[in-house]
Amino acid sequence: MTEYRGIDEPGLDVSHGVILYLEDLSVSFDGFKALNALSLTVDAGELRCIIGPNGAGKTTLMDVITGKTRPDSGSAWFGQQIDLLTRSEHEIVELGISRKFQKPSVFERHTVAGNLSLAWRPPQGASGKSVWATLRHQQSGEERDAIAALADEIGLLDHLEAPAGKLSHGQKQWLEIGLLLAQQPKLLLVDEPVAGMTQQEIYRTAELLTRLAGDRSVVVVEHDMAFIRSIAQKVTVLHEGSVLAEGAMASLQEDDHVRRVYLGESG
Ligand code: ADP
Ligand code: MG
Repeated sequence: MTEYRGIDEPGLDVSHGVILYLEDLSVSFDGFKALNALSLTVDAGELRCIIGPNGAGKTTLMDVITGKTRPDSGSAWFGQQIDLLTRSEHEIVELGISRKFQKPSVFERHTVAGNLSLAWRPPQGASGKSVWATLRHQQSGEERDAIAALADEIGLLDHLEAPAGKLSHGQKQWLEIGLLLAQQPKLLLVDEPVAGMTQQEIYRTAELLTRLAGDRSVVVVEHDMAFIRSIAQKVTVLHEGSVLAEGAMASLQEDDHVRRVYLGESG
């Protein structure tokens, strides 16, 4: 279970301002190119939205970044020095890349605080909770404070003692984001966070993700155009496994090609 890392292990180096470099990535499934020479960079502290029609390769892209799928060719670097393509899924989480899947996986019978407590690990715990911390049943003051801060960040401070099963769909999604934040990721990947949310929840999710970027980088894949517009950051449009266009939403809306392949289809 325990992984010992060599003394030469490079840390995350974002001295060039870039946290993720993807170059010329290709992934084929039975000859079909889910990713086709895709290149993309994400800056440290950036909030990036990725849109694109169904089948554009958005989920496959996240699979490659997190080590679930290995590309046929291309490269993927975390900062200047860490080659993601040589790392296991588990190592990639440990390096500081966390991914939120669409379906919330909170423990419904546990409280909000209980869920956060299960996910929380002490700072500098880059190699995971120590055996002592795992055996320890007593919550430290440090842990209690950290959990309150997390709950506050995700807008659930007033619900700390509520069973997760009693939360609204949107609140469960925020709790799930909180569980990932407890791992202290440097890059947070979020796949379709607002599906099934009310307008009010969508708005608050946009606010939350905007707030979370800065201290870390956040990459959001989303279909909901109202959400993408309200986030108003740099948007990357994927189409047939490559980047079709990139820029502010306003400029993409003027782009004929983007309108044809994507914006036209969902209004
Ligand atoms: P998106 O998330 O943008 O909708 P995906 O990355 O899920 O797109 O899929 C891109 C394409 O690759 C789709 O045509 C999909 O059917 C195909 N694909 C994805 N995963 C697999 C797989 N494991 N086996 C075969 N084809 C796949
Ligand atoms: Mg997808």
